[in-house]
Amino acid sequence: MKVRLKRFMKELNFKSTDDIVYGVYDDFLVSVTDNNEVSSLFIDVVLQETAAIDREKIRNIIELNAKQYSILYAEVKNTGISVIFNSGLTAFNKLKDFFYSFINQLNALGIKGASFCSNCGEETDSFSILSINGKLHSCDKVCAEQLCQTMNSKVKTKRKQLYFIPGLLGALFGAILGIIPFVVLCRMDFFILWCGIFVGLFTKGGYEFFKGENCIGKTIIVPIFSLAVIVPAVFINYCYRLSEFWSGKSYLIEFADTVRQTYNSILTVSLIRTSFIIDVAVTFVYALLGLLLFLRFKRNTYHNAVYIVE
Ligand SMILES: [Zn+2]
Repeated sequence: MKVRLKRFMKELNFKSTDDIVYGVYDDFLVSVTDNNEVSSLFIDVVLQETAAIDREKIRNIIELNAKQYSILYAEVKNTGISVIFNSGLTAFNKLKDFFYSFINQLNALGIKGASFCSNCGEETDSFSILSINGKLHSCDKVCAEQLCQTMNSKVKTKRKQLYFIPGLLGALFGAILGIIPFVVLCRMDFFILWCGIFVGLFTKGGYEFFKGENCIGKTIIVPIFSLAVIVPAVFINYCYRLSEFWSGKSYLIEFADTVRQTYNSILTVSLIRTSFIIDVAVTFVYALLGLLLFLRFKRNTYHNAVYIVE
């Protein structure tokens, strides 16, 4: 969490969950987020009988203030008001200034806040705070539990299906794709074993792209497929290198002979064999590195869409 957001949290005596700072201020449940893209302010309100008129009034306030506070975008709904600002220190300070003046104006309009249930609109003494897609709402306890159950079961049925076999084919496809840089570059005269990174990246990427499920099978086949394409690729590399060496001895040999001789050399000449095994191992280590690299990029911060915060 950014320092400025942390400071604002202390200033207001708010709490935080999942990088959302929230709390009740002047009977309004407010949540604030601040990331590298935008800073956002969300105020939980309940507009009912006079919803259209109230919405219009709130929109007017935001419109009048938009320029002064550099508001990027705002949305007024019957259950809450989102106001989005640029990311950055100046923008965040404007968000803070706007927050204090806006809450006053909402109070002046007599808008219903935290002590009214966002779901049924009834007044409630003790409310639960419910996170719905990163926006916090106040609900009475019965509505909160009901919403959690119904909305989460909807999320569950929408969750995409994952399969092992398509993932398997995807991993194979990815492995073949990932070894191409190695094969293309291996005629060059420089260190190319690092190209193994692409093998790891693409094999795992292929598995996930074809909706492969997260299971033990994945942990096994991704490295196996990586190794399965690395061995022939390093072999091709040796064919080139040895044929260069042999043709340097001034007799030309056909490609089929090169392959056969390379194969025999690896089997019989211990120096070549050791070097071959080391090269395969090093490329494989790079492939594993590629797998980890991919892991680090993909962080799962998203859990339940709807849950009770407190
Ligand atoms: Zn309710």
